[in-house]
Amino acid sequence: MEPLTITPDSNFTMIGERTNVTGSAAFRRLIKDDKLEEAVTVARQQAEGGANILDVCMDEGMLDGPVAMRRFVNLIGAEPDVARLPIMIDSSKFSVIEAGLECLQGKGVVNSISLKEGEAEFIRQAKIIRRFGAAVVVMAFDETGQATSVEHRLVIAHRAYKILTEQVGFPAEDIIFDPNILTIGTGIEEHDDYAVAFVEATRRIKHELPYAKVSGGVSNLSFSFRTSPRVREAMHAVFLYHAIRAGLDMAIVNAGQLAVYEELDPQLRERVEDLVLNRRADATERLLELAATLGGDAGESKQGDELAWRKEPLAKRLAHALVTGVADFIDQDVAEALTVYAKPLDIIEGPLMDGMNVVGELFGAGKMFLPQVVKSARVMKKAVAILEPLMEAEKQRTGQTRAKGRMVIATVKGDVHDIGKNIVAVVLRCNGYEVTDLGVMVPANQILDTAAQIKADIIGLSGLITPSLDEMISVAKEMTRREMSTPLLIGGATTSGKHTAVKIAPAYSGPTVHVQDASVAVGVLGKLLGDHRDGYLSEVRTKQDQVRAAYVAGQRRPMLSIADARLRRAKLAFDELAVPAFTGVKNLELDLATLVPWIDWSPFFHAWELKGRFPAIFDDPQRGDAAKRLFADGQAILHKIVDGKLLTARATYGFWPCSSDGDDLVILSDDRKHERLRMPMLRQQEDKDVCMSLADFIAPANDYVGGFIVTAGIGTDELAREYERDHDDYSAIIVKALADRFAEAAAEHLHKRARDDFGYGTREALSHEEILAETYRGIRPAFGYPACPDHGPKRALFALLDNEAHHHVRLTESLAMTPTASVAGLYFAHPDARYFAVGRVGKDQVTDYAHRAGVSVVEVERMIPSNLAY
Ligand code: SAH
Repeated sequence: MEPLTITPDSNFTMIGERTNVTGSAAFRRLIKDDKLEEAVTVARQQAEGGANILDVCMDEGMLDGPVAMRRFVNLIGAEPDVARLPIMIDSSKFSVIEAGLECLQGKGVVNSISLKEGEAEFIRQAKIIRRFGAAVVVMAFDETGQATSVEHRLVIAHRAYKILTEQVGFPAEDIIFDPNILTIGTGIEEHDDYAVAFVEATRRIKHELPYAKVSGGVSNLSFSFRTSPRVREAMHAVFLYHAIRAGLDMAIVNAGQLAVYEELDPQLRERVEDLVLNRRADATERLLELAATLGGDAGESKQGDELAWRKEPLAKRLAHALVTGVADFIDQDVAEALTVYAKPLDIIEGPLMDGMNVVGELFGAGKMFLPQVVKSARVMKKAVAILEPLMEAEKQRTGQTRAKGRMVIATVKGDVHDIGKNIVAVVLRCNGYEVTDLGVMVPANQILDTAAQIKADIIGLSGLITPSLDEMISVAKEMTRREMSTPLLIGGATTSGKHTAVKIAPAYSGPTVHVQDASVAVGVLGKLLGDHRDGYLSEVRTKQDQVRAAYVAGQRRPMLSIADARLRRAKLAFDELAVPAFTGVKNLELDLATLVPWIDWSPFFHAWELKGRFPAIFDDPQRGDAAKRLFADGQAILHKIVDGKLLTARATYGFWPCSSDGDDLVILSDDRKHERLRMPMLRQQEDKDVCMSLADFIAPANDYVGGFIVTAGIGTDELAREYERDHDDYSAIIVKALADRFAEAAAEHLHKRARDDFGYGTREALSHEEILAETYRGIRPAFGYPACPDHGPKRALFALLDNEAHHHVRLTESLAMTPTASVAGLYFAHPDARYFAVGRVGKDQVTDYAHRAGVSVVEVERMIPSNLAY
C-alpha cells in the first residue's frame, strides 16, 4: 500500500525472512498448526523490526503450497501495518509463485527464477511475472548447476540480463540477481572463499549490468554456526558490511535482529572477519573456540528470536524501550530494576532519565519526531506509574522534586480543543519539566490560582477557535491585575505571533511569548528558565515591537466604506438555480467503515507536526520513517474503532428556501411567505475590484441554501480516557486525531450527498483525489473560517437543524462545538461559489453587522478579533 522507492542513494533494503517456513521453525509450526493469526504477528514483527520487504515462503513438504500461499498473502493483505510493505513471493515451485502473484495488491517481487531448466522455461516464467508487473530475483544457476565461482556467476548474470531485457522486455531495474550466498566455516577448504566470491561477484554485477540489483539470503552464510546465535549475528553483520560496500542493494535477513558492525565485540569481530574474508586458514577453528566461550543463548528459540535487545543488560533494555517507545516489557523490566536498585527514585533518576535524555537529544537534533517522543513518554509514564506508589514515603521525606521547572497549562474557557496542548504537555514532561495540565474550558481564575498554588514558573494557554484569543487577552489582563510576572506562553491553531504581539502582550505587564508548536516549546522553556532569560526576553520584546509596527503600517492600507464595498459585490448570473430534492431536515447515522475512504490523511500528520502531504510524506528523507510508524499505529487504532464501532458518527442536514437581501441570507418558510430567520454575512472591505460576501452566492429570489452538522466524536472522550488510564497518551492523542479525521470525512461524504440532492452531484465525474481537493461545484463554508469568521451564526444554524437529541453536538459559551470532532456549515450550490477570506473590516461594517445580527458590537469584536481594521 505504500511505495518503496529504491534509488542508488537508498539505504540498504531489508527483506524480512521470518515469514518463511524453511527459514523459521516457529513460523513453520504456526502455519502447519493453522495458527494463522499468530503467523500474521510474525509478519508484523518483521515490519516493526524495520523490514522494507517481506519474504513469504510456504515450501514445505506437508503443505499444499498454492493454497497456503494464497491464504497467507490474502490475510496479510488485510493488515494495514503489514500490507504497507511489498511482498517477495518465495518458492521453488512456479505454481506457488503464480498463486501468490494473483493475490498481491501491489507490485511484488518474485524469488526466484533461474536458467536451471533452460532458456525456454526461463522465458516463459519471466513473461508471466512481467505480466503481473513484479520484479524478479534471478538465481545464479544454469543448466550445469549452481555457480560458485565469480566467473560462473557473471556468465549467468550476463546471459540472464540479456534474455530478460532483450527478449522478455523486462526493465533492467526490475532485475535482481542473487549470486548465491553459500555456507562458510564448514571445514571444507573449497568453501572458505565463498563469501569473498559473493562480494566480488556483487561488485562486478553492479558495475557491468546497468540498473540491475543484487540480493541474497544471508542466513545461509552462517549455517554451520547454528548453535551460536551471537556468532551468527556477528557473521551477518560483517558480511553485510562488506557486501553492501561492494554494492549489495538488499538481502533477506532477520529484520529486527541485525547487529551493527561497529558495535560488535572487537575480538568477535576480528575472528569473524578472518572467516568471512578468508584471511587465515585456521579461521574456522578459532571462531569455534570463541563461540564455545560465548554459550549457546538457550532462551532464544523459545521467545522468538526477533527480540535480540531483550538479551541486553537491564539499563540498556530500559533505554531501548524508551528510545523505541516499546512498552511491552516495561512492567517486567521495572520489576527487575526494583531488585537491583536501592530505591525506586534511583530507577527514575538513573536509567529512565538517561533514556529520556537520549530521546530529548534526538528530538532536539531533529532525529526524532513528535509521535516517537510521545510514544517514548508512554513508556516512561508506565514505568513511573509502577514506581510512584512505592515512592510516596520517600517523597514526603525529602519533600522536593527534581523538575527543571513547573508549568501550568490549559485550554481556555469556552474552548474544548486539546490535541496540541496535550502534545506540548507530554513533550515538556519528557524534557524534565513538571506540567500541571488543567484540561479544557478552564476559567482564568482557576488557571491563575493553580499557578500561585504550585508556584509555577510558566503559564501556558491554548485555544483553537477565535473567541479563545479574546479569552487569552482576559487572562493576560487578570495577570496584570494580580501583578504577576510569570512568563505567559500562547499557543494553538488560531494564535499567531502577530496577535500575541499586537493584542495579548500589551495586556500583560510580564513577558508574553507565542509558541508556534510543540517542537519549539522545549527550547522556549529552556531559554525562559535558563541563564540567558533576560537576553532572550529582550529579543522577544524587540521582535514584538517590530511586529506591532508592521501591523500599524498594514492597518493603513486603503479600506472602503461598507457602502462602497457593497457597490462592488460579486455580480453572479442566477438563471439556473439548483433545486434540492427536499426541503427541511434529515438525520443520518453514518457507518464508520464507509467513511474510511473519504479520509484525507494529510492533516493527521499535521496534528503531529509532521509537515507534508500524504502519501508522499512517507518518502521524506527525514520524516518518512516517523510518518510510516505513526500511520501504522493510526491504522491499528482505526481498525479497532471501526471493528468495535467505538465511535459514532451522526449528521443532520437540510435545505431551505432562501434569498439574499443585501448582505443577509434570508431563510424562508417552504411557501416563501414568511421569514424564518436572517443570517447576516460579512463583506470584504479592502479596496479591490470585487468585494465579496457569501450573500453574493444566493439569488435575491427563489434560491435555496443548505446547512449541516456532522460529528464523529460521540465516544471519543471515553475511548481516549481508557488509553490515558493506561498511561498511553500516545494512543489517546491518536484517537482524538482519528475522530477529527472521521468528522472531516463525514463532512466530505455528506457534502457529496448534498450535491446529489441538489442534482448536479450525480453528474460529477471526479476522482477520489479531486473530491478530497474539493474541485466539485459548490462549497460548504464553516463558521469561524475566513469567509464567515464570526462563529455567531452557528446559533441560527443549530436552531434550523434543531435536533440535538440525534446529533448530540452542542455549542459552548464561545460557540465551540462539543464533541470537538464535529463540523457545521452551510451549502452553497452556485457554480461560481468559492472560498475566500473576508479579511479586514471597518468599524462601520462591524456596527452595522452587529445590529443586523442582534448582538452587541463588543460581542462581534470578540468573535473576529483578527479581522478588525481598527
Ligand atoms: N479535507 C480536509 C477538509 C477540511 S478543510 C480535512 O479532512 O481536514 C476544508 C473545509 O474548511 C472546507 O470544506 C470548508 O468547510 C472550510 N473552509 C475552508 N476555507 C474556508 C473559507 N475560506 N471560508 C469558510 N470555510 C472554509
